[in-house]
Amino acid sequence: MSETIRTKFLIIGSGPAGYTAAIYAARANLQPILLQGAQPGGQLSITSDVENYPGFSSVIQGPWLMGEMENQAVHAGAVIHHDTIVSLDLSARPFVAVGEDAIYVADAIAICTGARARWLGLDSETYFRGSGVSACATCDGFFFKNRDVAVIGGGNTATEEAIYLARLAKSVTLIHRGDRLRAEKVLQQKLFDNPKISVVWNHVVEEVVGNPEPRAVTGLRLRNPKTQAEQQVSADGVFIAIGHDPATDPFRGQVECDPDGYIVTRPGSTVTNIPGVFAAGDVVDRTYRQAITAAGMGCMAALEAERFLTAAGH
Ligand SMILES: Cc1cc2nc3c(=O)[nH]c(=O)nc-3n(C[C@H](O)[C@H](O)[C@H](O)COP(=O)(O)OP(=O)(O)OC[C@H]3O[C@@H](n4cnc5c(N)ncnc54)[C@H](O)[C@@H]3O)c2cc1C
Repeated sequence: MSETIRTKFLIIGSGPAGYTAAIYAARANLQPILLQGAQPGGQLSITSDVENYPGFSSVIQGPWLMGEMENQAVHAGAVIHHDTIVSLDLSARPFVAVGEDAIYVADAIAICTGARARWLGLDSETYFRGSGVSACATCDGFFFKNRDVAVIGGGNTATEEAIYLARLAKSVTLIHRGDRLRAEKVLQQKLFDNPKISVVWNHVVEEVVGNPEPRAVTGLRLRNPKTQAEQQVSADGVFIAIGHDPATDPFRGQVECDPDGYIVTRPGSTVTNIPGVFAAGDVVDRTYRQAITAAGMGCMAALEAERFLTAAGH
């Protein structure tokens, strides 16, 4: 039988959103419990250089930054458990969250479980991830200033990333497996009007090509699935832009999610359709997907939870 742990405020997730919520909630004396899940530190724990998180004039490392956030949350008084939630019951208060190790009974909950980029699933893609292969143009585009890059995908994200990268890169090649983009028409027009961007239609990526020492991407081997014809494209950077999956499987049916699984919050807040349940970071955000925006939303979730708990007499 699992241990039952009572808390005023449960924070699920240990990325920038979760740790920031924990820092603010602990300083408001809510004695929060934060659950780290399978990836302590969240997405930044698997990257290296971070150059756009404010407050640092030199390059910092993602795992170091997340370690500092954890230390700050603990220092403020948050209690951290290395547990993963498998199901939630939000039908009555207090809410019940079932973890792999314990059951948590909470008066308010912040869901900060983030999202994962979809990858193509190629061995070569995994090999060069962080050494030329990225899923975030805002994060890594700067490293490819005046160089040649490729973007894989055909939807809004791929189109936006290609346009963004064209501000920095020498050239952008968009590679799409179809013969038309799924992006909004206005975005498509911007893309087609941009002289730095060219499109390779009807091709899939067979292999990311590069050098092992130092590990660096030099291009892509593409295949046309209809004709089986292959071609090579030169690129120093490859941006995979085929979508993200929010980590909401255990919460579906309990809290309102959109058709893609992102938790729906009231505009300008972290309030969900369940009073006392808040959501912050990439789990609600399909637009910005940055550490700083996730941290900002984590702060909002803690402040909104504090007001909710006060109004509810806790
Ligand atoms: C390779 C890479 C490089 C990046 N570089 C940058 C950069 O340079 N600058 C920048 O601003 N952004 C960068 N980003 C984006 C940034 O990491 C994310 O926007 C940010 O981490 C989102 O924070 P979050 O708190 O919403 O969620 P995440 O960081 O995704 O964390 C989610 C947390 O939830 C936990 N979790 C999930 N499910 C459960 C569950 N069921 N129970 C308990 N816990 C759970 C996970 O273990 C994890 O701790 C990068 C992302 C990647 C992948």
